[in-house]
Amino acid sequence: MITLKLLAHSYGQFASGVLLACSLFVLPVKTLASELSIDATFELLESGKPLNQESIDKHLGYLKSNIDIHTPLNYRRLQRTLCWAHDLTDPSSLRDGIKFVELQLSSEIITKSAETVIDLKLCRAWLNEGLNNIDEALAGYNDVILAAYKAELPRLIADARSLRGRMYSFQGNFGQALEDLITSQDLYDSLNLKYWSLYNLSDIATSYRRFGDPQTALKHYEKLEQKYIAMGELDDAILMTTEMAIALEEINEYPKAKANYMKAFNYWEDKQDDLRKSLVAVNLAGTLIKLGEINVAQQLLTQAEPHVKAELGPFYSYLNLFNAEIALINTKPQQALEFLAKAQNTFETIKNQRGLLHLFKVKTEVYKALNQPIEALAALEQYLKVHNELDAKRQTNLTTEMRTRFNTERIEDENQHLLQLQKIKEHELQIYEQNRLLQRAVIVMGFMLMLVVSFFAYKQTKRSKKMSTLAMTDHLTQLPNRRHTYKQGEALFKQLPDSGQQLSLILFDVDNFKKINDQYGHDIGDKALIGIANISVALMREHDLVGRVGGEEFLVLLPNTNAQQALLVARRLIQAIAKTAITDISDDFFLTASAGVATQHNDADFSALLQKADSALYQAKSNGRNCAVLSPSEDK
Ligand code: GH3
Ligand code: MG
Ligand code: MG
Repeated sequence: MITLKLLAHSYGQFASGVLLACSLFVLPVKTLASELSIDATFELLESGKPLNQESIDKHLGYLKSNIDIHTPLNYRRLQRTLCWAHDLTDPSSLRDGIKFVELQLSSEIITKSAETVIDLKLCRAWLNEGLNNIDEALAGYNDVILAAYKAELPRLIADARSLRGRMYSFQGNFGQALEDLITSQDLYDSLNLKYWSLYNLSDIATSYRRFGDPQTALKHYEKLEQKYIAMGELDDAILMTTEMAIALEEINEYPKAKANYMKAFNYWEDKQDDLRKSLVAVNLAGTLIKLGEINVAQQLLTQAEPHVKAELGPFYSYLNLFNAEIALINTKPQQALEFLAKAQNTFETIKNQRGLLHLFKVKTEVYKALNQPIEALAALEQYLKVHNELDAKRQTNLTTEMRTRFNTERIEDENQHLLQLQKIKEHELQIYEQNRLLQRAVIVMGFMLMLVVSFFAYKQTKRSKKMSTLAMTDHLTQLPNRRHTYKQGEALFKQLPDSGQQLSLILFDVDNFKKINDQYGHDIGDKALIGIANISVALMREHDLVGRVGGEEFLVLLPNTNAQQALLVARRLIQAIAKTAITDISDDFFLTASAGVATQHNDADFSALLQKADSALYQAKSNGRNCAVLSPSEDK
C-alpha cells in the first residue's frame, strides 16, 4: 500500500483530542522515478516510506505511462496504488476515490484477482473514513478483514486490522483497538514491513495513552522517536515528539509538554509547512491555556485558523473548543457559545466522546457565566451522560484490554499459523511451476527426439530407396539392368492368364560393336550405347520397358502387344537406330542393330519366351544384320 495510507494515520494522532498531521508531506525522496524499474517503483510506493506529493506524482506518472492492460499483474497493482494515492485532506479527491473503486470493481481484469478486489474495498473503507462516513468505513473494514482471513492474505489482514484498530482507538474502543493493532503489529514485524510496523506501533502507543496508560505510551513514543531519527525520517521523529507532548499533558506535565510542542512548532516553521505548523499550534494552545498563557494561546489560534478548515474534523473542533475556552476566560460567553456550536457539530459527526466530554464541561461553565441555569444543567447532564458512557466503555475496555494482553500469545500463534499457510501455498505454487516447467521441458525434448528420429528415418528411407534404385539400374545407360528387366518380364508373364492380354519381347543387339570399340576406343563405345538407349526409350510407349541385358544387348518388354504389332515396333526401332546419328560422338556416326521378336504363346515360363526371342535375334544376325526377325512359332 502506498504511503498515502498514512494519512489515515492522521486520525490516529490525537492530542487531548486534537488530531495531528501525519508524516506524509515529508522529506523529498532521494531517488528519481526514472532511475527505478517498475517493480522497484511499486516497492518504494508500497514500502510506507514517507514521500512528498511531488515525488509521488512523478512515480505514479512513470508507472501510468509504462503499464497497460496487457500486463495484468502490473495493471492491477497500479490500480491499487492509484486508489491509495487519493488525498485524504481533500474531500472531493476522496469522493473521486470511491467512484474510482466502484469503476474498478466492475472491470473483469480486476475482479479476476481476489487480492486486488479486497485491497480496493479496503481502500474504499479508508476513503469513507476520510469522509467521516464512519459506519460505512467500519462495515467496510469488517468485510475486508473477513475476506482477507478467508483468502489467507496476511498483508491485507495486517493493513485492514491496522486501519480498523486506529479507528477504534480514535473512537475510544481501546480494547478492540489494541486487539487489532497488536495483531497487525505482529504481522508487520513477521512480514518485515519496517515502516508499517513503526506506524502501527505508534498507534498502539496512542491507544495506551487514550486508554489511560500514558506512561506505557511515552515509553513507546520515545523508542519510536529514536528509531525515526536513526532512519533519517525526521518528520516522523518530530511527530513522535508531538505525541509525547500529548501524553505528557495527560499526566499533567504541562511545561514538558509545552517544550515538546514548541520543538515541533519550530520544526514545521523552519520547513515552512503552514498546515503542519497550524495543527501543532492548536495543540500548543490547549497546553498554554492550562498554563494560563491565554494571550499567546489566542495568538496561535488566530494564526492557525485560516489553515484549519472544517474538513480537518477534530482539528477544527478543538480549535473552536479552545477558542470557546479563551472567550469564556475573556468573559465573552456569547462568543464562546458560537465557537462551541461549531466544535460540537464535528465532534458528534466523528463520534469523539473525549472531545464531547471536554466540550460539555466548557458549555456548562459558559451557561453558568451567562446565568442560564437550565441550559447549564442540560449541558451538565450531557457531560455526565458522556462521562458515564466513557466510564462504562473504559470498564469493558479494561476487561477487553486485559484479555488482549493475555491473548497476545494466541494472536501471535494465529498469525504464525497464517504465515505458515501462506508459505506452504507459495511453496506449492513453486512446485507447481517447477513441475510445469519440467513437463514443458519433457515435451520439448520428446518433440526434439522425434524430429531427430524422423530426420534419420527419412534419410534412411531415401538412402535405401537410392540403394534399391541403384541395384535395379544400369549405371551407364540408367536403364533397368538385366536382373530388374528379367524380374519385370517374369512378373508380366505371370499376370498374363488373369489379364488375358499378350506379352511380346524385342531382344536387340548392336551390330559389330566389337569393331566400334576397337576402332574408336571404349569411351566412344560407351557413348554409343547411351545413344542407343536414348533412341530406344524415345520410341517406346510409357508402359513399355527397355532394359540393358548384356554389353550391347537390350530387351524391350511390350505388354498388351501381339506379334505383328511387336514386329512393327521392332522394325521401326531398327530403322530409327540406323537413321539416327549419335551426335554425342559425331554428326555422321551411325550404328545398326539386329532384333529378335517373340510373343507369348504356350510358353512354359518367361525364360522360354526369352529363348524364342534370342533364337529370332540369332536369325536376324544370320540374315545379314540391321533387321528384325519374328520368332517362327509366332508366324503361324
Ligand atoms: P555382332 O554384330 O555379331 O553382335 O558383333 P559384335 O561385335 O557386336 O559382337 P560381340 O559379342 O563379338 O562383341 C560385343 C562387344 O561389345 C564386345 C565388347 O567389347 C563390347 N562391349 C560389351 N559391353 C561393352 C560396354 O559396356 N562398353 C563398350 N564400349 N563396349 C562393350
Ligand atoms: Mg553385337
Ligand atoms: Mg552381343
